[in-house]
Amino acid sequence: MSLNRRDFLKLMGGTAAAFAFPSVIVQGCKRALEKASQRLPVIWIQGQSCSGCSVSLLNKIDPGIASVVTEYVSLDFHQTVMAGTGDVAVSVIEEAVEKKRKDFILVVEGSIPTKSDEYCTIGEVRGRRVGVREWVEKLGANAKAIVSVGSCAAFGGIPAALPRDGSGNPTGAISTAQLLKGKPVVNISGCPPHPDWMVGTLLYVLLNKGELPKLDEYNRPLLYYGKTVHEQCERLPDYKHNHFAKHWGDEGCLYNLGCLGMDSGCDIPKRKWVGTFNSCTNCGGGCIGCTEDVFPDYGNRGIFQHLNASREELNKLEHRETIETILKLRDGGVING
Ligand code: SF4
Ligand code: SF4
Repeated sequence: MSLNRRDFLKLMGGTAAAFAFPSVIVQGCKRALEKASQRLPVIWIQGQSCSGCSVSLLNKIDPGIASVVTEYVSLDFHQTVMAGTGDVAVSVIEEAVEKKRKDFILVVEGSIPTKSDEYCTIGEVRGRRVGVREWVEKLGANAKAIVSVGSCAAFGGIPAALPRDGSGNPTGAISTAQLLKGKPVVNISGCPPHPDWMVGTLLYVLLNKGELPKLDEYNRPLLYYGKTVHEQCERLPDYKHNHFAKHWGDEGCLYNLGCLGMDSGCDIPKRKWVGTFNSCTNCGGGCIGCTEDVFPDYGNRGIFQHLNASREELNKLEHRETIETILKLRDGGVING
């Protein structure tokens, strides 16, 4: 068992949660994990996706992905990383459907096309190509829990984006929850989501015998999405002291360049990417709001533009001096909106 106390605390919520987990509870959780580790089969289906969520999962560093898939979960099916191919691979999900298996967690990555099943098929059953829609419907009917990983599966994401010419989404892409109406679906949004959010949620379900973690209004675990990026941002002191970047690469808060940290819930500034190496805001890219249901369209706004906040809305902000600075910059034409 390679999940030490520090790893476990970090995975389950970072520093804030660490103080709330007395070591006796942590030891109890570790023992529960040891006992339960053979009992979390996962079937991971990829629909209309770029596989970025899976790549993010493979970047799991602490504990490493090898440890996760050999000690805590049994990844029964995953199109991209499984060793089996062709009929052998498809037989895993075919059997799960036929035998009405109820022991697995269904993880869906990518959106579901509704205009034609031919837009996204996974394997063949008796010579018939099977659409991802059909697999998700049939597997979702019996799964112990359903988890959408990535904003494509959670909300439609990039495959559901609307062309600017008004022609509508070409594949009619929808989220897992829109397909499986009425079924509880946990959304691990993000483009991609942090690997800790995916693995941490699976382990939560494992430890709590199928029970889901507390969710926010978008069905995302509060543990990871409960605070905004802005609240946890490395550049928050700049924001509070009216130190704003005017150009990419400048020091200072990135609000005027279009940072969406105020509108986006996730803990990346604290958790950071690639083994605590860096964050979107710290590296100077700003937050593009990839965890939110309106990503990437934001109406017709798109990303990397200032929100069209009205004076009224700005006046609701807390810091008087900040509002004045923003209005000054806006009136001077430095920022959009
Ligand atoms: S959520 Fe983003 S990273 Fe994940 S499959 Fe969709 S486009 Fe790729
Ligand atoms: S960079 Fe973005 S998230 Fe950070 S303080 Fe500024 S507006 Fe908030």
